[in-house]
Amino acid sequence: MKEVILLKLGEVVLKGLNRSRFESILVKNVKRAIWPYGNPIVSDKQSTIFVEVEGENADFEGAYEACKKIFGIVSVCRAIQCPLDFEQVKQTAGDYLEAKLMRAKTFKVNAKRADKGYPLTSPQIMEQLGEYILDRFPHLTVNVKEPEITVYAEVREGSVFVHGNPERGAGGLPAGTGGHGLLMLSGGIDSPVAGYVMAKRGLKLSAIHFESPPYTSDRAKEKVITLAQKLCVYAGQIDLYIVPFTEIQEAIKDQCNEDCFTVIMRRYMIKIACGLAERINAGAIITGESLGQVASQTLGAIRCTDAVSSYPVFRPFIGTDKQDIINIARQIDTFETSSLPFEDCCTVFTPRHPKTNPSLEVIEKAESPLDEEALLAGIQDKIEKVTLYAPSRKDRTNTDE
Ligand code: ATP
Ligand code: MG
Repeated sequence: MKEVILLKLGEVVLKGLNRSRFESILVKNVKRAIWPYGNPIVSDKQSTIFVEVEGENADFEGAYEACKKIFGIVSVCRAIQCPLDFEQVKQTAGDYLEAKLMRAKTFKVNAKRADKGYPLTSPQIMEQLGEYILDRFPHLTVNVKEPEITVYAEVREGSVFVHGNPERGAGGLPAGTGGHGLLMLSGGIDSPVAGYVMAKRGLKLSAIHFESPPYTSDRAKEKVITLAQKLCVYAGQIDLYIVPFTEIQEAIKDQCNEDCFTVIMRRYMIKIACGLAERINAGAIITGESLGQVASQTLGAIRCTDAVSSYPVFRPFIGTDKQDIINIARQIDTFETSSLPFEDCCTVFTPRHPKTNPSLEVIEKAESPLDEEALLAGIQDKIEKVTLYAPSRKDRTNTDE
């Protein structure tokens, strides 16, 4: 008998007429997530995606873990696929879940019958499987309200799937179903996590990073590439655009009031990001800003940066404490990379006394000496593009496919 993974769909099932589009993107995402662990055989029926992992060196365990990272899935179950014969179902359920049932004190059985032609009704399945388990594991008692283990039997098209205690899936909506966002990715803690949470709401991600060589090093750039790569596990392929920013920063430093440096610099970042968004057909800019975290993230500063944006700016952490962002960063494995101590272009030329709550008038006046047209001319052509892909089988086995 075969072990399979059952994935239960989340909000996707509420999407009415869009549902088939959502589901087909989700199935693609599932195949991509399984691919490093074996050949995925994936089918999608009645709000459940069935996954088998085949081929030489197939790693079922790895595939199961990978499934917990797929957005749009609310629960993940490893199940055994039994033939319809109910005597065999009982025996198999007992064997398959033996270790878990031995550890538990209480249980219940839950049955679902998508195949209405099956000779037993759901209550009959629950009753008969429950009796069998009680006979075979006499230390157990039934607790329908709070059982330590729930044994599920799902009858579907020619098979009965048995599993116990499904685990929580990643939730959210399938990455790539909600449009395309351009993530402003620094080497810090917040911005990769901001990308993660927006991908979780269905956005496809591209990323833009500003670098200022020689003030920022190749290692700082490598760090950002690593962060983008880590996001691909969740978001799929990411195009990372690297903008040479030195000249613009130097011009701001030389020609503008020092106190306004950071806000003016951020306005230029947004202008360049908007130009890129238009070029790559993205519909929003994403940042990791959190209200009050630093001088450039006060309400006044945010108004000044938003004033030059022609796209909505998504700041998923505007009301989130740093520690809560760090918790997610640890969970998605970006925290350590983000903590590497390489300089970011934002920390180059930091003013001694940055204006904390600048007004738009003050900023516009301070930046008036700059020749904006000349500074931005041709900048889009100087942007370097690095494409990063979701993990492949090669990454796992380190051998050629
Ligand atoms: P993070 O931890 O994300 O770096 P931060 O607390 O360091 O954030 P800032 O440096 O003020 O805050 O940056 C605020 C936001 O601006 C970042 O979250 C990111 O979205 C964007 N940003 C900052 N520096 C860069 C950069 N060099 N390239 C692209 N985006 C950047
Ligand atoms: Mg930063």
